[in-house]
Amino acid sequence: MKNLKRTRYHTMSSCNNSTAPAYNLKVHNVVDNNLQGKVFEMLETDDLHYEFGELISEFNCENDYKWQAGFNGRSGGYLVLYKGGKKSSHKSICENCGQRNFTSVKETGNLCGNCGQDARVDRLLYDTFVLAGKAIADGDVPADVLKAFRKLAVSIVKTAEWFAKNIDGLTHRAHLVHNNRLEGVKVESLAYPIRESNRRL
Ligand SMILES: [Zn+2]
Repeated sequence: MKNLKRTRYHTMSSCNNSTAPAYNLKVHNVVDNNLQGKVFEMLETDDLHYEFGELISEFNCENDYKWQAGFNGRSGGYLVLYKGGKKSSHKSICENCGQRNFTSVKETGNLCGNCGQDARVDRLLYDTFVLAGKAIADGDVPADVLKAFRKLAVSIVKTAEWFAKNIDGLTHRAHLVHNNRLEGVKVESLAYPIRESNRRL
């Protein structure tokens, strides 16, 4: 892995002048030269993007969604820090059919209106959100969050390099192209395709 240096990048498009702490994760910028070709191959498969998504989800969860990470930029070349949060959405859920309800069992009983079973239980459910247009000064971010954000960026690069060394990317790619899933897709950075796991406000 090459030296990783924190920079700043736009939180939305460059027209909006908000920037936040970020890492440039373009392959040529962070991945060892001898592994870049293999990483590009792996980036045309789903496996690596799935792993990145897991790492980011973990970071967001550990920070209670007050701080979240996401890819931004042309081809998603930057890992950017966002402010966000969560707000309660539903108060109960049916354990039989999964139907969610805005009222609690105390208020309306445990009978599910959807499946007719007495299977509703109280459970506070949350929606998470990202304040994508908000600028974040470096000094506004707690030191432990900046440290965790760096750790996340490092983990993403290390994961890409691990895959490059241990998984046969060409095999995966041939398989995927065969399934018509990647025709015409040009991969340029660690983030492509961008995973949209959060609603942007
Ligand atoms: Zn139900």
